[in-house]
Amino acid sequence: MSVLPLNPPDVQIPLLELRHVSKRFVKPIDAATRIANLFGAGVEQEVVHAVDDVTLTIRRGEVVGLVGESGCGKSTLGRMAVGLHSLSAGTRFWKGEDLSLLNAATRRQKQLAIQMIFQDPTASLNPRMRVQDIIGEAPVVHGMVPAAEQQIYVEQLLERVGLDPTVVRRFPHQFSGGQRARIGIARALAVKPEFLVCDEAVAALDVSIQAQVLNLFIRLRDELNLTYLFISHDLGVVRHLADRVVIMYLGRIVESASADAVFSHANHPYTQALLASAPKLEVRKLEFFAVKGEIPSPLHPPAGCHFHPRCPHAMARCQVEVPMLREVAPAHFSACHLND
Ligand code: SF4
Repeated sequence: MSVLPLNPPDVQIPLLELRHVSKRFVKPIDAATRIANLFGAGVEQEVVHAVDDVTLTIRRGEVVGLVGESGCGKSTLGRMAVGLHSLSAGTRFWKGEDLSLLNAATRRQKQLAIQMIFQDPTASLNPRMRVQDIIGEAPVVHGMVPAAEQQIYVEQLLERVGLDPTVVRRFPHQFSGGQRARIGIARALAVKPEFLVCDEAVAALDVSIQAQVLNLFIRLRDELNLTYLFISHDLGVVRHLADRVVIMYLGRIVESASADAVFSHANHPYTQALLASAPKLEVRKLEFFAVKGEIPSPLHPPAGCHFHPRCPHAMARCQVEVPMLREVAPAHFSACHLND
């Protein structure tokens, strides 16, 4: 067994690499608390450790499924990958280049290749804009398409995502949920991305529509040579789509392996619990948390293994020692002291 290498030997430079990234959100103290502190109340700022020292490497053409319960930090990590959240610590590389070293204009230009598809297509589409402007605004602003050719460009994109191009002048409320999801995908594709972060992109859809949109993602990957970070709490969705699965718990990656390995030989006790709970992840979550004492959360992460004290195999060292990701089988990494 060996510790996870930061740069595994590979001739291909990763498309995206997050190296030891963390994200902390600090809740500001309100005026009343500040006054109370003047009189010695001693109330401290609350710090949420949303993402804690995560290293994630994604290669061109991969579909990486990022799985975990609500609040585990997976959406925050996705937003960090896209550049919507700054990093509290760590480094983000795009094609081997440290993005923090670029000036703002160059970084913005490079980041066009990394786009995000959001969970709620209704909330993410401006209800006052027509489809032509929703999809066509960014490529025109960034000089990718002349304004005079915007409509034909948008019509081609609508066809690519399986929509009738004649709807180009309509507003979002005139579409079904599945059609709005396709409009969101077309908007992301409009700036010719290479990498898509899909954050619960089918979670709000009916099951039959989910399957259609997942098949669309698969077709687009093949046609456009796309790479995906597919964030989901639904193991069934990830199993359908992902080449590699990364499991997060309380801000840390606890296991990473090929989809086949995760679903057939999960190593980490948390992954095993997740698989045992599927498909009723949210219901089981309540049972998991039925432990005595303070509930582990990003606000109160345990000092050692984040899965302590919920883990049935917890040992004394798990309380104080953070388990490292170790290779337990070829390209299969798990962070658990049972592997030491
Ligand atoms: Fe369980 Fe300890 Fe492994 Fe964490 S490190 S998963 S508490 S055995």
